[in-house]
Amino acid sequence: MSVQVFKFGGASVKSAEAVKNVAVILRQFPEKPTVIVVSAMGKMTNAFEQIWLASLDNPTTINEKIEEVKNYHQQIVSDLFDEIPNSLQRTLNEWYTDLEQKARSPKPAQRDYTYDSIVSIGELLSTTIISAYLNSEGILSEWKDARALIKTDYTYRSAHVDWKKTTNQCQEQILPVFESEETKCIVTQGFIAAADTWHTTTLGREGSDYSAAILAYALDADQVMIWKDVPGVLNADPRKYDNAKLLPSISYKEAIELAYYGASVIHPKTIQPLQNKSIPLWVKSFVYPKESGTCIRTDVPQEQLIPSFIIKEGQRLISIATRDFSFIVEEHLSHIFQVFSSHGITMNLMQNSAINFSVVVNEDARELPLLMEELQQTYAVRYNEQLDLVTIRHYNEEIVQELTGKKKRVLEQRTRNTIRFLLK
Ligand code: ADP
Ligand code: ASP
Ligand code: MG
Repeated sequence: MSVQVFKFGGASVKSAEAVKNVAVILRQFPEKPTVIVVSAMGKMTNAFEQIWLASLDNPTTINEKIEEVKNYHQQIVSDLFDEIPNSLQRTLNEWYTDLEQKARSPKPAQRDYTYDSIVSIGELLSTTIISAYLNSEGILSEWKDARALIKTDYTYRSAHVDWKKTTNQCQEQILPVFESEETKCIVTQGFIAAADTWHTTTLGREGSDYSAAILAYALDADQVMIWKDVPGVLNADPRKYDNAKLLPSISYKEAIELAYYGASVIHPKTIQPLQNKSIPLWVKSFVYPKESGTCIRTDVPQEQLIPSFIIKEGQRLISIATRDFSFIVEEHLSHIFQVFSSHGITMNLMQNSAINFSVVVNEDARELPLLMEELQQTYAVRYNEQLDLVTIRHYNEEIVQELTGKKKRVLEQRTRNTIRFLLK
């Protein structure tokens, strides 16, 4: 069966107006059964993270934080409906009660488990509202719990997908719905999944793009469209660079490189499942849905080779050396990698010399203080903060000058297609 997957992120469902626009978009693409993957509304995931922190560390503030979340959703619901359907309000109340219970009985020894069980409620609320709204507009949709579809291991906050179980579940639960005449849409949550039956897990912040790709893979979808507040993938983040240009079509390879280096318009894990099954990914504007946006696919006859660049701020350069002036050899490197991996810290760039191994990481990485402590037990460790990591694909001298000219180059790395600078 020919199915398509649409993904609506936080910005595209942040208000009643935005939710109404989702219906407008769906009416423009009526031809295929559509799985609609939705994120938490607006910046709600941040608000849920605050509830999680309060539940573990500062319970006296839980009530006001939960009230904020409830009011936000209730405002959207009252703006969407002249009269809120009873069944919708009942379901929302159930999620609010669930949230209150979870926030009041956290498991302090299992912070990440608690995180997933609380933060996931953002997506459960948004999809409940959107599914009800679409039905009220005559766009018949069925709500599905993504935890019954996407199966993972128990790595809370960045769970790994069990592809076999996920494929079976998706095919068993989604395809029969589309075989019935009327239902053309299934609405489900991005970002959330489950280990075994009901251990809620999440796929990592901004993971809803990835959810869309997982479902598309499992269903052998024809295409995925992710709806954004930008015209598509641009050669730079338009929030940081006024003259950013649209890349109308790029290969999976180019897209995965851009996402890996930090072009935050697509979650980096999104590309692989789509590439594996040659499913095209469209990145489109929810403001101008008729514009073609960016198509990411296998055969791009004339790959856009204009310079694209990514600027990651808030970087820390960590220099790790042996204490006795001996060479940094494979044995040390293997130990260092193991320490990074055990703390879940990503290396954004690395470089080594005779007695020194240098790594660039995000300053706000969660377990950075613990990592530093552990490294210091074995090595001489120094670091430098508040640096910018600039990556330029398909670089030329002009763009290098423009982006690095006034700053001090702390470190530089160059390959044929990519040049990277750590700047102070
Ligand atoms: P979502 O609503 O799906 O969560 P995001 O906010 O994660 O969407 O992604 C859209 C944002 O990505 C844009 O607002 C833009 O600022 C940012 N962005 C970063 N790099 C790029 C790029 N190369 N092209 C387009 N947008 C980019
Ligand atoms: N709601 C989650 C987040 O804000 C997932 C997503 O939006 O992609 O991180
Ligand atoms: Mg997002």
